[in-house]
Amino acid sequence: MDYPKYETVIGLEVHAQLQTNSKLFSGDANRFGGEPNTHINPITLAHPGTLPKINKKAIEYAIKLGLACHCTIESLNCFARKNYFYPDLPKGYQISQHTTPICVGGYISIFIENIEKKIFLNRIHIEEDAGKSIHDAVEGFTCVDYNRAGTPLLEIVTEPCIQSAEEAFQYLTEIRKLVRWIEICDGNMEEGSLRCDANISIRLKGDKELGTKVEVKNLNSIRNVKKAIDFEIERMINLVEKGEKIVQQTRSFDANSDTTFAIREKEEANDYRYFPDPDLVPFFINQSTIETIKKTMPILPNVLKQKLQHTYGLSRYDAHQLCEDKYTVSFFEATAAQCHYFKAIANWILGPLKQYLNEQGIDFSQLTLQPKTLCGIIQLIEDGKVNFSTAANKLLPALIATNANPAITAENMGIIQVSDNDAIVNWVQQVVNAMPEKVLEYKKGKKGLIGLFVGEVKKISKGKADPKTTTILLEKMLNE
Ligand code: ADP
Ligand code: MG
Repeated sequence: MDYPKYETVIGLEVHAQLQTNSKLFSGDANRFGGEPNTHINPITLAHPGTLPKINKKAIEYAIKLGLACHCTIESLNCFARKNYFYPDLPKGYQISQHTTPICVGGYISIFIENIEKKIFLNRIHIEEDAGKSIHDAVEGFTCVDYNRAGTPLLEIVTEPCIQSAEEAFQYLTEIRKLVRWIEICDGNMEEGSLRCDANISIRLKGDKELGTKVEVKNLNSIRNVKKAIDFEIERMINLVEKGEKIVQQTRSFDANSDTTFAIREKEEANDYRYFPDPDLVPFFINQSTIETIKKTMPILPNVLKQKLQHTYGLSRYDAHQLCEDKYTVSFFEATAAQCHYFKAIANWILGPLKQYLNEQGIDFSQLTLQPKTLCGIIQLIEDGKVNFSTAANKLLPALIATNANPAITAENMGIIQVSDNDAIVNWVQQVVNAMPEKVLEYKKGKKGLIGLFVGEVKKISKGKADPKTTTILLEKMLNE
């Protein structure tokens, strides 16, 4: 449905679980899965007399993400207690950075139809995760597993500046790429290491005030975020069109029906009784710490994207695709360092190699093919010795694990194209003799048939006839 009267306003809250070895305030292992309630020491459970201690790695990871998102890294950092009761919260409060988020402002760039849009961030703060209530393990009971309690999280909050489900989709794709790129979170939404709540409202175009928002939770894939937003926009517009009011609600997404349903009305008087955690002293982050961390950061995808376009002359599309993850682009650069057919390298990576990896369910970090071997394959094609499809379908599978010499392998496989005229003239003659009617049609003016003849020569030569020479010889013979 198209409603030109309205515009959509979306703000996303993303929780990223940090890949630290231990939890945010205790030495418990920070690991997904495991026997329930096995990573729970007295600090995680907040037994009397225990004292939390800040995990430095978590702070470092927060700073890394802040730098990657152009945020201001705040010097003064405090932790506060957010008090509420819930069975999965063993302490009775969650430790979070209430008024002093570690990162402020910043943005993440997305590209919509090749035009850059900055999605502005409000803040990134550190907090701990809760445990898990499990409703389906024992009939009639709810079980709790505290293994996840105390896991370090970063909450990344955008300004209400996202305008469509597509923008939200692109933004989340970028966030996931970024946290993987700087190796702070595995970005796995299905396992819950990356979670998203979507705040959505609509308003009449041109209105300055924000409309009443709903917050949709339980979005465990980027695609579901998109579906939930599309569903909500339509639902809210229908309500307003019917003259009804939108109520501020928390809603949940049902992946079976692609719809959302209300779970609670917004708790107006929600009072978490925040106060500074007396067990955790405020701490300061100085500039030299930030500089040291900066030095450990890899080159970021957007910077590399520019480089691929300027240094190697690739299109923005190719550059974007190659920067999907660190390993892909580093394979490109390693190959480009050894041969200068940059566009061909990009095509091989984004075509046959990516397809191979997808089929194997692995990524470029696990690719056994060496850059030098790929260069050898590309050189054979450039020299007209092997055609692309034979190289992709036969030569590549033969070399991918062995990295044997491409030229010798192609020779042994009998797939080297013949470009000397005598052999090709022979095949051309055979084809012309075998198809007298088509030849007549061609001579009467149906020049498009040339493709058919070239194809036939390719067939009987088993792909060995160089297509360029074939075409020239065919045209010569047919036009005699
Ligand atoms: P809350 O306290 O309810 O979590 P916040 O003001 O902290 O609300 O905002 C949470 C998220 O909701 C942010 O990403 C913010 O940009 C977004 N947001 C706030 N108001 C609206 C609105 N009216 N429409 C859409 N998104 C909104
Ligand atoms: Mg919220």
